Amino acid sequence: MSALTRRTLIATGAASLATRALPALAAPAPYRFQHGAFELTVVSDGHLVLPASFLAPDAPPQERAALLKAAGETGAEYNSPTNVTLIRTASDLILVDMGSGDRFMPSAGKLWDNLKSAGIDKDKISKVIFTHSHPDHLWGALDEFDEMALPQAAFYAAQAEWDFWAGADAERGLPAERAGFVTGARRRYAAIKERVTLLKPGDELVSGLHLVATPGHTQGHVSLALAGGDGLIIGGDALTHPLISFAHPEWRPAADHVPEQAVATRRRLLDRLAADRTRLIGFHLPYPGLGSVERKDGAYRYLPAS
Ligand SMILES: [Zn+2]
Repeated sequence: MSALTRRTLIATGAASLATRALPALAAPAPYRFQHGAFELTVVSDGHLVLPASFLAPDAPPQERAALLKAAGETGAEYNSPTNVTLIRTASDLILVDMGSGDRFMPSAGKLWDNLKSAGIDKDKISKVIFTHSHPDHLWGALDEFDEMALPQAAFYAAQAEWDFWAGADAERGLPAERAGFVTGARRRYAAIKERVTLLKPGDELVSGLHLVATPGHTQGHVSLALAGGDGLIIGGDALTHPLISFAHPEWRPAADHVPEQAVATRRRLLDRLAADRTRLIGFHLPYPGLGSVERKDGAYRYLPAS
């Protein structure tokens, strides 16, 4: 059974009965691989259910529908996977984003259960870094009792991202239906503020792991570059769909806060990934979201690793 089919089934009552009987089927098996000095594990947080039009509201509808169909998505809604990366170094266990927690969507917030099934003790996580502060990346910082999910960890975020959500522009610059994102981000910020270090693009988190500026999806969105081989970029939400983001980087997803900047970031990132043969982990690409990029017909194509 494919990972996507399993995830889809988990949403149904029948599957949850099966899941209780056979816990090993609860999530895709954790995807583990070595990159340079780093051991990476990609763990699913479940998935988001989003309107299909959300991917590119201003794109020609027939072209958008054709690409969605090619990706196996024919309904008014589509399932967007959420891939959380864990990086093991000689001295640290680093989590990249924390998933949705239990306040965003019932189909998401499975990270802690899936880590446990993968045999990973979350209390051993020493560092957490956020690509950005949308609910599906940040809200897992608090548990169902509003307590810190990882009280022992040190937290890292991009200064520009923190400043945006903490500042007055967050209320002014977002559509009214996303006001809850601001309240939600600030609640998590309040919980972690004593333990957070704010970084800038170019800063090194640990040896061989740097922040890269990839703004536009949010004002301070960052990716992570890992040294080793031809490199690896953990790209957060700079590239969110396996066909649309690559074939039409100029289409503007509804989720992007600064659409034109996000388009420029996608083009720059795609060019770098294709030219340098750098591997990519995409948070919302089909699990585990690891692949590479090639140029195709004036645009790009995503080549999944598995
Ligand atoms: Zn996201």
